[in-house]
Amino acid sequence: MDIHEHQAKDVLRAFGMPVPQGGIAFAPEQAMHEARKLGFPVVVKAQIHAGGRGAAGGVRLCQSEAEVGAFALSLLGRNLVTKQTDAQGKPVHRLLVEQGTEIAKELYLGLVLDRKSERIMIVASREGGMEIEDLAEDQPDALIRMVIDPAMGLLPFQSRELGFALGLSAHQIGQFAIVLRACYRAFRDLDATMVEINPLVVSSAGGLIALDAKMSFDTNALFRRPNVAALRDPGQEDPREDAAAEHGLSYVGLDGDIGCIINGAGLAMATMDMIQLAGGQPANFLDIGGGASPERVVAAFRTVLTDPNVSVILVNIFAGINRCDWVASGVVQAYRELNLTLPVVVRLAGTNVDEGRCIIDASGLPLISADTLAEAAATAVAARPALAA
Ligand code: GDP
Ligand code: MN
Repeated sequence: MDIHEHQAKDVLRAFGMPVPQGGIAFAPEQAMHEARKLGFPVVVKAQIHAGGRGAAGGVRLCQSEAEVGAFALSLLGRNLVTKQTDAQGKPVHRLLVEQGTEIAKELYLGLVLDRKSERIMIVASREGGMEIEDLAEDQPDALIRMVIDPAMGLLPFQSRELGFALGLSAHQIGQFAIVLRACYRAFRDLDATMVEINPLVVSSAGGLIALDAKMSFDTNALFRRPNVAALRDPGQEDPREDAAAEHGLSYVGLDGDIGCIINGAGLAMATMDMIQLAGGQPANFLDIGGGASPERVVAAFRTVLTDPNVSVILVNIFAGINRCDWVASGVVQAYRELNLTLPVVVRLAGTNVDEGRCIIDASGLPLISADTLAEAAATAVAARPALAA
């Protein structure tokens, strides 16, 4: 789960991180009021669950109240499209108004879970402000990596070593130890999966300050972190994924036109590969899970059909815990209830497959049966209504 920059800054501040003074605003008047309290210049920043805001016009240094008001008015209620969002962008419903900082140097600091070492890894660089993906590509040598031993925790010499590598002065290295400890403790104590300070700046006064902050959390640990769970902003999330989760379905929207209803994440991935191999594009990933009742199958159809690009649906079930006859009943029910007109390809295998096929065949509905995964994928690709040539 992602949170907003202002929330990440509040979280990190509680662990000792130096962050600029600021306040949150939901309306232009409120932004102007916050700016007046802080004194000029202020920086006004769109709060969305994506980076790349600076380059997309979502961050501005403002010198007057009028400028703050006009900028706030231009952002609030609109979608901001950045390099990290899709073409629709993310809605801006709140702004962070902060005291402007004079920047002497921009550094990069990130903490991630490194799967290879199974530890928290620190990634740092003298080249702040740039996106880390670009930096890793263009100047891989500019990245400094360090792994934290969970039994020892972050050790003072590690902070010093990194501070030296970042070219900091003796005084700044002391501050850097505080910054790094705040990141590490917040990461460890709150079940985070990522903390990123980009940029961490040296101000013209010589002090370190976190100008930007990003945090992600392990969704599976939210049950024991109610204070973190409370930071969720559903307005920034895909509403289809939310609705699907309510029915016990894992759904991820994609760009293609072949809607997928599949049981098991592995089979879903394999099916998406087979669709691409057959020359098509999946519209979504969807795992209906084990023991899917007819009701859940209907919910899966509803979820897939919220995507207007879907022109054919492929149901692929390998029933172990599931039962093919249950799924088949669900497919027939969904077809009737939702007044479907688009082609539906059904491939069933496993428990009660014969009963399942009987239900499909006896339904009298134009459902297309397929025996193998390859056949199902090819049939779905071929069943798409002819696209305008
Ligand atoms: P992102 O583009 O979404 O990562 O947003 P950031 O919070 O990183 O802001 C983008 C850029 O705006 C930063 O890299 C800075 O160069 C600039 N910026 C942000 N805050 C300030 C500030 O207080 N003073 C100045 N001079 N620049 C700022
Ligand atoms: Mn940034």
